[in-house]
Amino acid sequence: MTQNPAEIIEELDTIRIIGHIKGHMKGPTLIFFGGIHGNEPSGVQALEKIFSELGSIQEGLKGNIIGIRGNIPALAKERRFLENDLNRIWTQRGIDAINKKENSERTVEETELIELHRLISEIIDEKSAPFYFIDYHTTSSPTLPFITINDALINRKFARLFPLPIILGLEEYLEGPLLSYINEKGYVAIGFESGQHSTPEATDNSVAFTWLALSFTGVLPNNSEFKQAQYLAQLRSAAKGDNTFYEVTHRHIITDKDEFNMLPGFRSFDPIEVGTKLASHNGKQLKTDKNTIVFMPLYQEQGEEGFFLIRRIPKWILNLSAGVRKLRMDNVLTWLPGVSWASPQKDRLMVNLTVARFLSKPFFHLLGYRSRTLDKTHYLMTNRERTARNGMYRDTPWYRKS
Ligand SMILES: [Zn+2]
Repeated sequence: MTQNPAEIIEELDTIRIIGHIKGHMKGPTLIFFGGIHGNEPSGVQALEKIFSELGSIQEGLKGNIIGIRGNIPALAKERRFLENDLNRIWTQRGIDAINKKENSERTVEETELIELHRLISEIIDEKSAPFYFIDYHTTSSPTLPFITINDALINRKFARLFPLPIILGLEEYLEGPLLSYINEKGYVAIGFESGQHSTPEATDNSVAFTWLALSFTGVLPNNSEFKQAQYLAQLRSAAKGDNTFYEVTHRHIITDKDEFNMLPGFRSFDPIEVGTKLASHNGKQLKTDKNTIVFMPLYQEQGEEGFFLIRRIPKWILNLSAGVRKLRMDNVLTWLPGVSWASPQKDRLMVNLTVARFLSKPFFHLLGYRSRTLDKTHYLMTNRERTARNGMYRDTPWYRKS
């Protein structure tokens, strides 16, 4: 006997939804994702804990809190993914293509994407702005807990409320992460990597992060302030007091056909000296050619990156870039030779590098652009600030504070 479709969807939803609490008063909507990677259950465990505790203080809550399980079939098998990485297929073009496929033609992860995409659209349609999207992950190596964001000023502003290191620019190196898709819609979107896979600390840090997010966004009643101090202290100590901004300078790409072995003992945020042996790749030894910082070294079978390298961003650069973005200085860029608008909305620039030799990627980063190499001579630059819905967050307590 076949079930009717409505019943099937409802059944799916009870697995998909970790919890959904609607406060008695109007407020923001917080959407938390756990287990977008199936071998990273800490976020799911943290959210299960939070929702069981939230039930008792439901009275004073404002707005909506929703916890969502990511890759359900991969979570069941404790694998990062089964057919393709669910955190690498969120491009508009990819989604359109998946939508056109028959059910039977879709991979496991494509089916998961369709379900999640439908959920997200329903949530956004509810008109319960402002929206916050928070995605929980863990890493295969030991690491300080850290935040990843697309570099829009609203993300920076929200992320720096947490006493954690913040990584900018990871999305330029990755194709189709979920949060980039959300960001392109202009909403605040924060990735939190809470620690090493399946460690108790990784779950505890996600619990702390969730409580803080609920508190900063004004969901929790005011009398829960004491918890804020306790969770702030917990994260500060887990991150060893590091709350600097970093940017990605290098991504070491690997494919599943490659023989890649990271040498043992590296942890994210470890400074390494020039000439340090990092890994072997298809029999070749990889050494660093300068003093640098290693980030997300791969100690598991599945993954498309062997490791990343990062560097600290000086404070003055952060301040300068915030200043020039507010002044919209990019308006004069198209006066330069080799630079033209790539869209009528003026949110994308086409840069011909043979003509505009004097302009560098960091220069565009400063102005809020995300760059994609189109071909040998052209960059396509997308302005994150033009799509960011700053107005949606203007009246929130954290936006007004700084
Ligand atoms: Zn992950």
